[in-house]
Amino acid sequence: MYEDSPVPPDPAAETATPAHTATTVERGSFCLARCACGWSGPARRSRDLARTDAAGHAAAVPG
Ligand SMILES: [Zn+2]
Repeated sequence: MYEDSPVPPDPAAETATPAHTATTVERGSFCLARCACGWSGPARRSRDLARTDAAGHAAAVPG
């Protein structure tokens, strides 16, 4: 009798709430912000501007 079978960990427990993790990606000579939710900012010539877009998106979207 094998009543004491091990219970596998629930994978849903680790991915509770997906945060808006915006990062900057380089596209050729441009740089743009991209978020884990699928959002992407406009192409910037400056990485600092793209980073500002990423920060602005994370701040604008609740959660
Ligand atoms: Zn996002």
